[in-house]
Amino acid sequence: STAVETKEFQTEIRQLLDIVIHSLYTDREIFLRELISNAADAMEKLRYTQLTGPEVKDKDAVLEIHIDTDDNSHTLTITDTGIGMTKEELVENLGTIAHSGSKEFFKHLSAKGDQKDLNLIGQFGVGFYSAFMVADKVTIYTRSYHQEGESFTWESDGVGSYTITEGEDRVRGTKMVLHLKEDAYDFAKEETIKRVIKQYSSFVPYPIMVNEQKVNTVDALWTKNKSEILDNDYNEFYKFIANAHDEPLLRLHFSSDAPLNINTLLFVPKENLEQFGFGRTEPGVSLYCKKVLIQEKSPLVLPEWLRFLRGVIDSEELPLNISRETMQDSALISKLNKVVTSRFLKFLDGQATAEPEKFKEFWEKFNFFIKEGAANDYTHQKDLIKLLRFESSNTEAGELVSLADYTGRMKDDQSAIYYVNGPSREVIESGPYLEVFRNKGIEVIYTYAAIDDYIFGAIREHEGKRLISADEADLNLGDTEEQDRREEALSEEEVSNLTSWLKEVLGSKVTDVRESKRLVDSPAVVLSPYGTNSMQRMMQMMNKDL
Ligand code: ADP
Ligand code: MG
Repeated sequence: STAVETKEFQTEIRQLLDIVIHSLYTDREIFLRELISNAADAMEKLRYTQLTGPEVKDKDAVLEIHIDTDDNSHTLTITDTGIGMTKEELVENLGTIAHSGSKEFFKHLSAKGDQKDLNLIGQFGVGFYSAFMVADKVTIYTRSYHQEGESFTWESDGVGSYTITEGEDRVRGTKMVLHLKEDAYDFAKEETIKRVIKQYSSFVPYPIMVNEQKVNTVDALWTKNKSEILDNDYNEFYKFIANAHDEPLLRLHFSSDAPLNINTLLFVPKENLEQFGFGRTEPGVSLYCKKVLIQEKSPLVLPEWLRFLRGVIDSEELPLNISRETMQDSALISKLNKVVTSRFLKFLDGQATAEPEKFKEFWEKFNFFIKEGAANDYTHQKDLIKLLRFESSNTEAGELVSLADYTGRMKDDQSAIYYVNGPSREVIESGPYLEVFRNKGIEVIYTYAAIDDYIFGAIREHEGKRLISADEADLNLGDTEEQDRREEALSEEEVSNLTSWLKEVLGSKVTDVRESKRLVDSPAVVLSPYGTNSMQRMMQMMNKDL
């Protein structure tokens, strides 16, 4: 039958399309990157299905992306031989938002005023809709890879609704025709398209043919020899896999044969989107076996606290037909996870020495992830702790020390590492906790985040030295300073009267009031009877987040 069904877009999609259609944009050519990356994804899925599943329709159809420009009818057509879509999939994938990031994306867009930066659209799983930046009508012809089934045509002007019609049977895959807006006619020109592909899609792992001429070199960069790869190749590859528009902050490319055969290319992005309130970052490292995608953006191949990384892990030893379920408890995956994580932490530690400025930038933007790991990941805790950095009473503001720096210059008779928590350097330094340390010339680490105290509380010691919070009641810093008692000191009787009076006034707010040996200039200080206040601060932090 050729009945036309008209369906409404989900509300969120309507709002998104409204922004896409009615805003001014910077870089609207990124729509092409999004559509090409969808075509490549669809072929990657097909390739995987072909290797592991039942025989697909049109099994000999070549895996290529064809892009055709027509300057007379002002259309741009993108064709792939990927998995295609069934009617249900069309409705599901191109009419609703399944991804959780969309809300954050709206927030990001609305904050931008009139000049919209839609560059991040792909990272939020709604890249397809960027087609409506340049087209006032999009027609999609698609045929799923299942042997049984029909071909469908999807069409929309991006305003409110779309139609689905059953069409004549066609070859497996998807063809998208963009009817360009008048101000976007430029995208029906071959030179424009070639330029944009070169800029954004050089590393698509399938041939891209523009008007039947091949325009990209197909390369799995991570399997190449490091000496054959230019910085620029790495950067372009990063932009491709991360849907990014800027260069990465750090990269690690390593290959090993033992204990596992691994080819890995990992990138730390320039920015930490979680820091900007974009919600939780989704994992971004994909798992391959001999260049075949096994799991895109795998949540299992690296620990959760490395979710900010982008890249590829390829291991020949993985069985191709490993399923999501068996992956969960695959000993091989956990070994891979462990090996790559250790290697990455070693790399970071090396960066701290080799490129201190870069490492500092990394630390400023991504420290929370490292701390998250140090707090929960016992497998890598030791290596993570090495990376922790703090300000201290010995540093200038903004200058950082590691625990190794601290222990390296500890006095011989100092038996513990001391730290004090506070919201800022100013608050810590004007508070009473530091006095006794200052007086004795002992360095104190400043922890500004509750999680720092949590970590210290959890590990308790470092290289045989106890970690002690400066607000602990029973600080033992060696000899008591009887000699410091000044002439105007209170008599024992006066002290006893004063403490009893204070206890009475403060009542159940305190467990004890004692004469202090630690204060130099301040009249009083509040201390914790339970060792440190860190647990309390952790609870406060968590309550605030709820
Ligand atoms: P994302 O690619 O992040 O999932 P998009 O908005 O770009 O988000 O695409 C939405 C979905 O539409 C894809 O996940 C995929 O299921 C489907 N899709 C888009 N383009 C194609 C295509 N060329 N072939 C098959 N499926 C596609
Ligand atoms: Mg996409």
